Amino acid sequence: MNTIILTTCSNSTEAYLIKGTLENNGIDCFLTNENFSNLMPHYFNIMGAGIQVMIDESDLEKAQKLISSPKADEIVCPNCNSSNVTFGFGYNKVKKWFIVFLSLFSWVPFGNIRKNFRCEDCKTEF
Ligand SMILES: [Zn+2]
Repeated sequence: MNTIILTTCSNSTEAYLIKGTLENNGIDCFLTNENFSNLMPHYFNIMGAGIQVMIDESDLEKAQKLISSPKADEIVCPNCNSSNVTFGFGYNKVKKWFIVFLSLFSWVPFGNIRKNFRCEDCKTEF
């Protein structure tokens, strides 16, 4: 029995989702480095920081198949079922720059400006 690192996660939510998936499929695992990563999230990927999902070496192949993320071409638009989907910061860039400017002007941190999926056919963001 040899314990190895399956993957390193940037937050505990992602780590617990992977842990739950593995345990539901009969793979024993545990998390390490969780407290440090929750206290110092900005140190992710520096000096080995990040929440590590540890498994037995004999389960590696099965575990990698379970946690592999879906490919971009498998994602379809919830509005029109088109597979012509891209990933980016969205269409309304003026609104997002206005939010950034307003937050800098008022010294209030702006919310979550993040990337999302966009349908190129019906222009839906999800
Ligand atoms: Zn669409």
